[in-house]
Amino acid sequence: MDNFEARLERFAATLPETRRHLHRYPELSGAEFATTAYLSERLAQAEVPHRVGQGNRGVIAEPATAARSSGTPLIALRADIDALPIEEANPVEYRSRHPGVMHACGHDAHTSILLGLTLSLHRAQGLPVTWRAIFQPSEEVGQGALEMIRQGALTGVEAVVALHVDPNRPVGTVGVTPGPRTAWCQDFAIEVTGRGGHGARPHNTVDPIAASAHLITLIYQALPRQNDARNPVVVTIGAIQGGHASNVIPDRVSLKGTVRSIDQPTAERAHDCLQRLCASAAQAFQASVAPAFEPLLPGLVNEPAVAKICAGAARELLGEAAVATDDRVSMGAEDFAEYTRLVPGCMISLGVNTPGRPITPLHTPTFDIDERALLIGARLLARVLLRWPSASLSH
Ligand SMILES: [Zn+2]
Ligand SMILES: [Zn+2]
Repeated sequence: MDNFEARLERFAATLPETRRHLHRYPELSGAEFATTAYLSERLAQAEVPHRVGQGNRGVIAEPATAARSSGTPLIALRADIDALPIEEANPVEYRSRHPGVMHACGHDAHTSILLGLTLSLHRAQGLPVTWRAIFQPSEEVGQGALEMIRQGALTGVEAVVALHVDPNRPVGTVGVTPGPRTAWCQDFAIEVTGRGGHGARPHNTVDPIAASAHLITLIYQALPRQNDARNPVVVTIGAIQGGHASNVIPDRVSLKGTVRSIDQPTAERAHDCLQRLCASAAQAFQASVAPAFEPLLPGLVNEPAVAKICAGAARELLGEAAVATDDRVSMGAEDFAEYTRLVPGCMISLGVNTPGRPITPLHTPTFDIDERALLIGARLLARVLLRWPSASLSH
């Protein structure tokens, strides 16, 4: 352990440097080209075997370990690398140099932690496992995990572990809760098409604004009433577009929304319910109401056996009181769930709030982290690898 701690200590100063570099030059989902090139260059300098993902987005690295023998478990660690379409409002030296783009979900932190760990543990002797580092693009649009899985990220992998920063938790504390962690998520768009005309003579038109207003009310009223209240579901219409003048009825209105639940049957029932409500609004208003659903993103479930290993490593590193194991499930979504659907996995929630400072939530223009969390994250992941049981997980 001392040997590993010493290796990490040598990289400690580079963690904030890497994070600030990534923070200054954030890239949107689907366009993580410079980030990918930067990671590949850093890995190449240290001679870490790796391959760049299709379309020059994402990296899969295979750090050398002395333990690469048959029967040794292969553990994947994953970091996401993409940023968000948000204009940063933090007056810091490392503020985003890309207008309208910001690392407001901490993926710069995840990436610098995993890169630092990869560089420091490359060629380390004495790990009980072999391991792979997955630097994944396009998390924020829920597609990058599937892209990396299609490119073999999980081939031969026994378990997968990731961190996500949590601004509600003080730095030096973590959450490692077994069971369901995030929601099943389905985004959708609804195209309401009528027949436009004069605002004074709606009877000569098919009014898509009236149909949309009714539909939104219907969704908010009927969907919760048709759902068993013991299984939470939440639906939000986040965008509505249509019309341009006070006295003109337009031809078309577009709606966008998202529906979240914490189990698959509820997600499927909510999907069916939305389709039914669209059909009913269409019939009532004689309009065309066409819903289009994005693929259903699964809920993230922390496998109890993997969560136990991660929680044990966290307690050893941070102390009993610093490790929460009973966090409530989030209605947010996380595409790390695509990995844990295929192999057992665990996402650790990493505290990044400076005690006494106000909490700024994820996905906001003032989001920032306490950078002391970077070394804690790297030390924690190293310990997870070191403490991994040599016997295969039964699953
Ligand atoms: Zn996010
Ligand atoms: Zn995130």
